[in-house]
Amino acid sequence: MSEPGAGLLGLFGGTFDPLHVGHLRLALEAREALGLAEVCLIPAGKPALRETPQCAAADRLAMVERALAELPGFSVDAGEVLQATVPATGAATSAAPSYTVDTLERQRRLHGPQRPLVLLLGADAFARIEAWHRWRELFGLAHVAVATRPGHELRVGAGATALDAEFTARRGVAGDLAGAPAGRIVPFAITALEISASAVRRRLAGGLSVRYLVPEAVLDYIDSHQLYRTSHGH
Ligand code: ATP
Repeated sequence: MSEPGAGLLGLFGGTFDPLHVGHLRLALEAREALGLAEVCLIPAGKPALRETPQCAAADRLAMVERALAELPGFSVDAGEVLQATVPATGAATSAAPSYTVDTLERQRRLHGPQRPLVLLLGADAFARIEAWHRWRELFGLAHVAVATRPGHELRVGAGATALDAEFTARRGVAGDLAGAPAGRIVPFAITALEISASAVRRRLAGGLSVRYLVPEAVLDYIDSHQLYRTSHGH
């Protein structure tokens, strides 16, 4: 859980099913490129717009926590996972899906109206943001920084969609982020790594190694808990 503090706070949500080095490079390079004081990773409890994750929320959270343990400048927010799981057993609850807008409202309450919050997304996630619950309200709660991702060119801004209009009106650069608590959209480039959680799951289901695609701590967790190895992976 990120404590109230100072400086730009990056918020990086994802299914993290499982966390891989593409996620970690995004978080790390966002911190460098955007001058973030801290990046907080937020594993999704019950993602609204995709299939039920293959791995339980408690395991996805545990992998993120282990990968980031004692890494200065990074933290984990368990809020969505806690909301989606029964405390004693870790089983899924019938809770409503986790929406990023609710998470940002919670973070905003925690950090006050002035602290700049920066929602971090890959280009593929940003391109689909119009499908998100109350998506326009996201810009009132945080800045949005969009990282490059191989195979997902950032094409918004040129057309006539509502997102194109938001992008054109809000587009900024890293240096703008400290000047306001929310409202800018800032594209930034990161090292191109063509890694996805689904490809990691496919390798595991096929009995192949994922070493160097995921951090060692995640590899150990997957091995010791026998995750993703069954044929129902896809
Ligand atoms: P899946 O393959 O299951 O769709 P994923 O690898 O895209 O999973 P998510 O947990 O859904 O992982 O992604 C969380 C965020 O990280 C999203 O905003 C996504 O765009 C971004 N992201 C994931 N992998 C990369 C990558 N290799 N490069 C840049 N951004 C990435």
